[in-house]
Amino acid sequence: MSENNNVPEYFGSMVFGETAMKERLPKDVYKSLKKTIKEGTPLDQHIANVVANAMKDWALSKGATHFTHWFQPMTGITAEKHDSFISPCQDGTVIMEFSGKELVKGEPDASSFPSGGLRATFEARGYTAWDPTSYAFIKDGSLCIPTAFCSYTGQVLDKKTPLLRSMDTISNQACRILKLFGKECKRVTTTVGSEQEYFLIDKQDYKKRKDLIFTGRTLFGAKPPKGQELDDHYFGSIRPRVMAFMRELDEELWKLGILTKTKHNEVAPCQHEMAPIFTTTNIATDQNQLTMEMMKKVADRHNLVCLLHEKPFEYVNGSGKHNNWSLSTNTGENLLEPGSTPSSNAQFLLFLTAVIKGVDEYQDLLRISVASAGNDHRLGANEAPPAIVSMFVGDELSAILDSIEAGTDYTDVKKTMMSVGVSTLPRIPKDNTDRNRTSPFAFTGNKFEFRMLGSTFNIACTNVMLNTIVAEELCQFADELEKAEDFDTALMMLIQREIKAHKRIIFNGNGYDQKWVEEAEKRGLMNLKTTPDALPHYTDDKNLKLFTKHKIYTEIEIASRKEILLEEYSKTINIEALTMLDMLKKDIIPACIAYNKKIVDAAIAKKEIGISADLEIEQAEQLSEKTALLCQRQQALEKALNNVPDLEQGEAAAKYFGNVVIEKMEQTRAVADELEMMIAQNDWPMPTYGKILYYV
Ligand code: ADP
Ligand code: MG
Repeated sequence: MSENNNVPEYFGSMVFGETAMKERLPKDVYKSLKKTIKEGTPLDQHIANVVANAMKDWALSKGATHFTHWFQPMTGITAEKHDSFISPCQDGTVIMEFSGKELVKGEPDASSFPSGGLRATFEARGYTAWDPTSYAFIKDGSLCIPTAFCSYTGQVLDKKTPLLRSMDTISNQACRILKLFGKECKRVTTTVGSEQEYFLIDKQDYKKRKDLIFTGRTLFGAKPPKGQELDDHYFGSIRPRVMAFMRELDEELWKLGILTKTKHNEVAPCQHEMAPIFTTTNIATDQNQLTMEMMKKVADRHNLVCLLHEKPFEYVNGSGKHNNWSLSTNTGENLLEPGSTPSSNAQFLLFLTAVIKGVDEYQDLLRISVASAGNDHRLGANEAPPAIVSMFVGDELSAILDSIEAGTDYTDVKKTMMSVGVSTLPRIPKDNTDRNRTSPFAFTGNKFEFRMLGSTFNIACTNVMLNTIVAEELCQFADELEKAEDFDTALMMLIQREIKAHKRIIFNGNGYDQKWVEEAEKRGLMNLKTTPDALPHYTDDKNLKLFTKHKIYTEIEIASRKEILLEEYSKTINIEALTMLDMLKKDIIPACIAYNKKIVDAAIAKKEIGISADLEIEQAEQLSEKTALLCQRQQALEKALNNVPDLEQGEAAAKYFGNVVIEKMEQTRAVADELEMMIAQNDWPMPTYGKILYYV
């Protein structure tokens, strides 16, 4: 990789963004494309043709030969099918062509993507539609066009379409609220900065672990002598191999116009983090997908493997993702930034109240948006927030909310509010609000940080939930306040009422404390411990109402999403269990038997020449016993797998995997890990934790 220090020169060089557009599009075409991007107006065919041609010429100049519609089906990863620009001429030569039609619409065969029963395979046709609000870019010689993915009958088959819808919805509702404060605002966008955690390990070790290859995490492994107890990895100096990886990753991402900003070592050995500068939610979503992909690619070039799984190793922390979220107007005002005048403070408090009410009423949706087999290992395990959704707002803001709530009659409230605005609510210093790392949903001065996401997650779903629930609350507030005769009084009454009703969701204490679990239960907060506990709530009445009211999903689409996620959960655990059995039968048990034979042979040899073999005999007996126990556990696991309910019965199957199969897997692993400690390093069939976590 080139050591090119001129970042401003190559930043965004692989993106058909502002600069490329201005350079290559005729003025009028540029203007109408910008209008489409800003206001969502449809793009006419003629304009599309001109844009497509310019994009193609630009892509060719960067060495691209193919194009692909790049979309995010329900698998959670991105999908692409590459077509070349080649078009044959009569004389046997070729030219490179790309039409507006090809830019705007694509028709990948959709039959093999999960659809949760939405679309029978015989009507597999789905289409992708260009999302001009996210820039096209070049990756591996292909022009990638970010698109949304729908079926021909109009059902949404991806993660992007609902996200775009939810962004429109929250924009409309937020603009209504701003109007009440005398502000004419065209568009409010949600902004997101997603911090990404990951592990890097040596490729040679990875290749020797079937569990990492098939499942992304280790299914066996005894505790190494050293874990993260010394806290010496967090923010520690970065080893040269990793530094080289990080430098190249930055370079690749900068070329793609991704503003990577911060990099550091995380808590667990081999664990690292990258944070970009925030941007509009749909761009942030695309960029996070690209970041994860690029992390894997660049790691490979450095003979490393990037593990994005939520829990690659037992005994040390797993990886998550933080979704920093805020609202910003087209004039650049951050709506979650406390203001310095009474009126801007009142506006801030109203948006804050909407978030508080939304999070309280739709705790289950936020929990669902972070539910997966992988993330179940983290949530509530003292390394990530508990599975209970609560909000941290900090002591200062809490005191303000308390004083608002305490006001008894409206004059009092009014007085409180005004004095709140003038004196007690100065700009809240950011540093004072971000001390609590245990809260799932923390106010951090001018944004909220949702910390429950797993590291592999596509952030679209979480942001669909956030945007929609806050839009709903803003809508209710606007309905009420638009009718009010005295706006100021109505506003204060509303804030006071809602804070009172929803303050149970606010918790500024230690989220890792067992006492909080009990306290949360007293407060009536939901504790959806596992994915099979959480997912069934997707189709609760209130949630169906929410999504259909705002036209984010139809009822059928929600049901299908629930089915897809339940099935994904069951399949994931099924693969893990099968991988365990494979490793046990083909590697671990044979290794135990072979090692035992070595000891027995040694015993016989010793006896032959008259030396006592008590030590060997004792070891051989212990090994025999443990290996027999392991075989029993393996058979129990096998039996459990034979009795799995039909996967079609989504909920029942997921519950069975979550309750029965996982337990059998844990019992099996426990014995195998003890055996690992009884067997010589060179006779164990795979690299151990100590070796993997402390590579050089
Ligand atoms: P920490 O590690 O303490 O959580 P960082 O500073 O590493 O904090 O990350 C904060 C993240 O929040 C960054 O990605 C940053 O760009 C993002 N962020 C800052 N302001 C906003 C905002 N208004 N909207 C969304 N994200 C934001
Ligand atoms: Mg963070």
